[in-house]
Amino acid sequence: MRHIAIVGSGPAGYYTAEAAQKQWGDDVRVDVIDMLPVPYGLIRTGVAPDHQSIKAVSQRYEKTALTENVRFVGNVMIGRDISAKELKALYDAVVFATGAPNDRALGLPGEDLRNVFGSAAFVGWYNGHPQFADLDPDLSGRNAVVIGMGNVALDVARILSKTDSEFEGSDIVAHALDLLRNSRISTITIVGRRGPHQIMMTPKELSELMNLARASPRVDPADLPEPEEDAFLEPGVRKSVCLLRSFAAIPESERADKTIEIDFDMFASPRRFIGEGKVSALEIERTRVESGRAVGTGEAYTIPADLVVSCIGYRSSPIPDVPFDERAGRFANDGGRIESGLYCVGWARRGPTGTIGTNRPDGFSVVEKIAEDFDTGAIANVPREGRVGLDKLINERGIEVVTFRDWKKIEEAEEQAAREGAPREKFVDVEAMIRARQ
Ligand code: NAP
Repeated sequence: MRHIAIVGSGPAGYYTAEAAQKQWGDDVRVDVIDMLPVPYGLIRTGVAPDHQSIKAVSQRYEKTALTENVRFVGNVMIGRDISAKELKALYDAVVFATGAPNDRALGLPGEDLRNVFGSAAFVGWYNGHPQFADLDPDLSGRNAVVIGMGNVALDVARILSKTDSEFEGSDIVAHALDLLRNSRISTITIVGRRGPHQIMMTPKELSELMNLARASPRVDPADLPEPEEDAFLEPGVRKSVCLLRSFAAIPESERADKTIEIDFDMFASPRRFIGEGKVSALEIERTRVESGRAVGTGEAYTIPADLVVSCIGYRSSPIPDVPFDERAGRFANDGGRIESGLYCVGWARRGPTGTIGTNRPDGFSVVEKIAEDFDTGAIANVPREGRVGLDKLINERGIEVVTFRDWKKIEEAEEQAAREGAPREKFVDVEAMIRARQ
């Protein structure tokens, strides 16, 4: 029997569990351990609440979770409740699928002013992550600034622009909907340090800005390169640039009935946040792009900023005794192998890039590495206690475990509490989740 522990129950975790099942069938026992009492990680607290079709992939993970040899162990934090060393001694292989839950900092003066948030915190807030449920951003000012030109920046800008009725069918949490309902934001500036040709926003997501009820995107035609230069772009980027061109061409008459403007400020590198206690402005340096890199021109200007959300990427959380690459912000690994018996997958392996689907081949390839280490004897062929040993530690320490069956009760309670048309109203604190399973 192979005993595998997967730490983290998001896409990377469940694809790895699925791959382990395919590889070893009845000869494997997989424990998927999560610090939260609820599964699915990024699907629940990262994917935008108005992108329900993407969230539907959790049905596939549920199928894996419900098989005999896979078990969900919720509300157990590795590195706090159980150490990585203990886990390694109990299982043949431990796979960290813990994602990248921390914001990368800009490292600029004034970043600690009130109402400056990283996207992990802000997205966590509107998605009901218990760690960020109390964020309470101030949306009473007119000017929001979103830093970065990736899909997370787009998510944030879109969520800040939507009307109540545009959230129908979403699972945005009540505390966020209430604040957004009373938001006074009228300009959302998306600040990108490079230009249109370096945009990381993907076409499908970018095109959503065309269909917003009260918001309209604006691009300065002067920022756009000559159209013939687009010919050299990779097709996806070319489509995104095409959309930027159409944003630049929206006639003023079409904007007349819109109350929110989503303004793209490109070739713009943030320099410092300005404000007394709370942010009020952002100083920016104009850039030009040389050999694909943003180079400062020395020209600076200031834009008003009552709220700032920095969407510039994420870092993984280190776990004591697990080698970590500080510079890269993820576990030190070679193609998913940290050392024999310890592996990582998904964002914890490669950093915060790619789509949900990218994690599937990732999961399968880490299982191949584990199989290789079994074959070469790099994983010692000794009997392991696996889940029996984990349960012993859990009992000794009085940890309140949430099982998959418990999660189904929590899920049912969330579905029952949903406002009309919404799939669920999430519990946003751990205690409430645990109570709901009784
Ligand atoms: P991303 O795509 O890597 O974009 C990060 C952005 O931040 C880039 O525009 C980058 O500019 C900018 N940036 C980085 N450091 C900066 C700095 N110091 N100053 C100013 N700007 C800086 O990351 P993301 O938006 O966080 O998304 C993470 C991953 O999740 C991506 O693969 C994304 O596609 C995926 N995602 C997908 C969806 C979806 O499909 N619906 C939704 C959300 C996220 P440079 O390019 O100049 O470095």
